[in-house]
Amino acid sequence: MIPFNMPLYLGTEIKYIKAAITKNHQIGGDGPFTKACSDWLCQNAQIPGAFLTNSGTAALEMTALLAGIKPGDEVIMPAFTFVTTANAFALRGATIVFVDIRPDTLNIDETLIEAAITSRTKMMVPVHYGGIGCEMDAIMAIARRHDLLVVEDAAQGVMASYKNKALGSIGDLGCYSFHETKNYTMGEGGALLINREDLIEQATIIRDKGTNRHDFLAGRVDKYSWVDLGSSYLPSELNAAHLLAQLEAAEMVNQQRLNLWQHYYERLKPLVAAGYIELPVVPNHCQHNGHLFYIKTASQQERNDLIHWLKQHQICTAFHYTPLHETPGGQKFGRFHGADRFTSNESLRLLRLPLYFSLSEPELEQVVAEIVAFYKR
Ligand SMILES: *Cc1c(COP(=O)(O)O)cnc(C)c1O
Repeated sequence: MIPFNMPLYLGTEIKYIKAAITKNHQIGGDGPFTKACSDWLCQNAQIPGAFLTNSGTAALEMTALLAGIKPGDEVIMPAFTFVTTANAFALRGATIVFVDIRPDTLNIDETLIEAAITSRTKMMVPVHYGGIGCEMDAIMAIARRHDLLVVEDAAQGVMASYKNKALGSIGDLGCYSFHETKNYTMGEGGALLINREDLIEQATIIRDKGTNRHDFLAGRVDKYSWVDLGSSYLPSELNAAHLLAQLEAAEMVNQQRLNLWQHYYERLKPLVAAGYIELPVVPNHCQHNGHLFYIKTASQQERNDLIHWLKQHQICTAFHYTPLHETPGGQKFGRFHGADRFTSNESLRLLRLPLYFSLSEPELEQVVAEIVAFYKR
């Protein structure tokens, strides 16, 4: 069986985890491994602040607190995304305003955003699907015109860029995920990227239970106390140790994923020429990271038949999001602005193929061969 995903494991992680336990004697949060990961993230994305969190979801929830989201505020995002992109803001009482996606990148259609803005709109959350960047220049220009905050959901975007700027580093805030399904992992984990010096101190407090313990540990105050709203968003050093080993090898891992992605692309191109399927589109100014590879079939029925065919031939594939405006949560906490021209239709045709660091060339060839066989029947 070729699985759909295998979590990245390089072999060096275990040494670092052991060092956290037996050398540093620190397995709680914010030790040397967490610091090394944060430094790597700041350097890699060229931003003033980065905080490891216990999930990508936690990083999104931190942005809602940082933005002071209150009941009645509106947050604009695509409906073609993971639940927590929306839930993080609904949790603070916001109304989620969904906007349609572009059919090429499946990212939010930047030309539809402005019409969805009202006097209650507080922020926009562009999602970089598959590590392929949204049209950030247009999005940032809208944000400036309407004085809105931009939070990039770059959960899938580590090591990817837009016009040579790291995804997650362009808006006011950015979120990464290090879940085991992502390119780099700590099991469960994520990071908050901060592009604004003025938000760093408050983020420190929010992440550490609403306390100024950070000032206490640094010797700036002689006791720490509750100073604002917060929660416990910091991960254990064990998880950070696992992640650091992978971040140190990020160039090599990224290149391997890009090779596999390109290999799929080249081998499946004939099926595009024959009119059977469509392949992902990467705009020229975007450098992606091979996070996922999808094909688009002609219809939902054809996609489901293909999933079944591949499963019979020992290959696991996956569709992706149920558009959020079609879910009970999305109906309770959000509304779709304008027409759903592409969100539902594109998601019904989408099929993700196995793509992970340890996927071998023969395995990839087998996936391609079975897709070709399906269409040649
Ligand atoms: C993975 C993901 C998240 C959530 O990350 P977790 O670490 O699983 O909480 C949020 N948004 C998108 C687009 C994701 O892909």
